[in-house]
Amino acid sequence: MKNRFKVIDVNPRGFCKGVYNAIELAKKARLEHPNDKISILGELVHNKDVTSALSLLNIETIESKGKTRLELLDEIQEGFIIFSAHGVSPLIENKAKSRGLQTINASCVDVLVTQDLIKKYIEQNYDILYIGQKGHPEAEAVLELHDTKIKLVEIGHPLPNIDSSLIFVTNQTTMSIFDIQATLNQLSLKYPHAILSNETCSATRLRQEAILKLPDDVDGIVIIGDHQSNNTKMLGKIAQNKQIKNIISIQNLIELDPSLLDQCHEVAITAGASTPKFIIDAVVNFIKAYSQDETIQKEDYLINPFI
Ligand code: SF4
Repeated sequence: MKNRFKVIDVNPRGFCKGVYNAIELAKKARLEHPNDKISILGELVHNKDVTSALSLLNIETIESKGKTRLELLDEIQEGFIIFSAHGVSPLIENKAKSRGLQTINASCVDVLVTQDLIKKYIEQNYDILYIGQKGHPEAEAVLELHDTKIKLVEIGHPLPNIDSSLIFVTNQTTMSIFDIQATLNQLSLKYPHAILSNETCSATRLRQEAILKLPDDVDGIVIIGDHQSNNTKMLGKIAQNKQIKNIISIQNLIELDPSLLDQCHEVAITAGASTPKFIIDAVVNFIKAYSQDETIQKEDYLINPFI
């Protein structure tokens, strides 16, 4: 049967090493402690389908929009507490331990590298400018590293004014590569003496660059991932930079409106670093079949959750 539109698999897409490791740690914790209470402080990774799958293992996610990790910690009274891939500050780690909770740290190594860099420069009396998103758990953990020496630089906001001869500039790992480069350039003009370190993780960079490398004929892109996932949202931003005409962002197949694909000639499919394979497979299998036959039903392509 003739394809109505061409489908391109973007590579890489989906789980990064940090997300994979965090989920494996959570599963191992349940295997080793079958009868204990296990809670995750905030979403382990930003994906509701992962959160639901973990709840099937009786691992509860303690999350409430607008609440900090410190506030959420007060809701966990006993058992094991897992810190998410986004990293955690010593403040929270110490508070959890002092309350008798057993801690499991699923922080991504790339996040830890950035935290260690910041700690090293603070020890040398530097002021830190951290490019990130207000309220994001990764940024929240970084800002808790020191009361006064770290300032958040938000994209689209005025650059902060600081009077310091020792400035270190770094960033959240999952931002748009364009936003980070532009902000680093602005900061180096304003503070020529500052030391800059771009800490965008390779998973984020490679997934964004894969979109930029797509043929110019691509006129549609489906981006699969949780709407709260920063690295997924950034894929949408990169697709805008690439001027792809139709950008379709969905959490999973249920959210897909197939009629949006009908106007496209070449459709690329990508996914954020926290999107599980079973979610991606369902969307890809459906879109490939739909490209040949518009009468197929989404329900036939849904896959039961497993991670
Ligand atoms: S997106 Fe990057 S920083 Fe975040 S978990 Fe994955 S590898 Fe680590």
